[in-house]
Amino acid sequence: MRRKIIAGNWKMNKTPKEAAEFCKMMKDKVSSTQVDVVFCVPFVDLFPVLEQLKGTDIGVGAENMHFEDSGAYTGEISPLMLKEMGVTYVVLGHSERRQYFNETDEMVNKKVKKALDVGITPIMCCGETLEQREAGITIEWIRIQIKCGLLGLTGDEVEKVVIAYEPIWAIGTGRTATSEQAQEVCRAIRQVVGQVYGDAVAEKVRIQYGGSVSGKNAAELFAMEDIDGGLVGGASLKEEFQQIVHYQK
Ligand code: PEP
Repeated sequence: MRRKIIAGNWKMNKTPKEAAEFCKMMKDKVSSTQVDVVFCVPFVDLFPVLEQLKGTDIGVGAENMHFEDSGAYTGEISPLMLKEMGVTYVVLGHSERRQYFNETDEMVNKKVKKALDVGITPIMCCGETLEQREAGITIEWIRIQIKCGLLGLTGDEVEKVVIAYEPIWAIGTGRTATSEQAQEVCRAIRQVVGQVYGDAVAEKVRIQYGGSVSGKNAAELFAMEDIDGGLVGGASLKEEFQQIVHYQK
């Protein structure tokens, strides 16, 4: 039985002060013994968020990182910096990073490997564009992203990766994939993991759905067999996040 994981992705929102205030207000509301809860936040918010969430069971994640430990990479943040701060998750290969910052599957793969090496759980994103969906190549595309993103990992490592399926046409648009559409792709992801790393690994790997998840649709999406929680953008910035975390009630 896989434990569900519900992660907020704040994107480029909330100043450090706003972040601290929000966490103070939300921490009791989103504490859960049923599911893993994570806040993935901008780099400058990590300190105040870690401080506010100290002693709770809420995980804290970054939204990106470099794949090198240190070096001449002006403006970048290294895995070792995150690790030392107490960060335990990192979102990698979000479609916004791929689209606006030219991140490739190869870079995502290097980052996933590095995160695992330092003991940070990667939340590795994949997803198709509307054009790809309409052209009928969604599953093919996702299989390539998954194979490339996980290339060179052992089965033991793959088990630790959280995969987030996020159709690009559903991110921030209010247009959610139907639970059947989301399930179909999450099932295909589990199948490709099974083909490459074996069924035991596929059974353990957690696969989230992301794309306009809300307090209203979370229960139906998370009830699907291969959906093990959600990566939540807009709704994680609001009190509504508690309805998503407590979707069973
Ligand atoms: C996201 O940022 O990963 C996301 C899914 O955003 P939203 O929930 O706002 O669609």
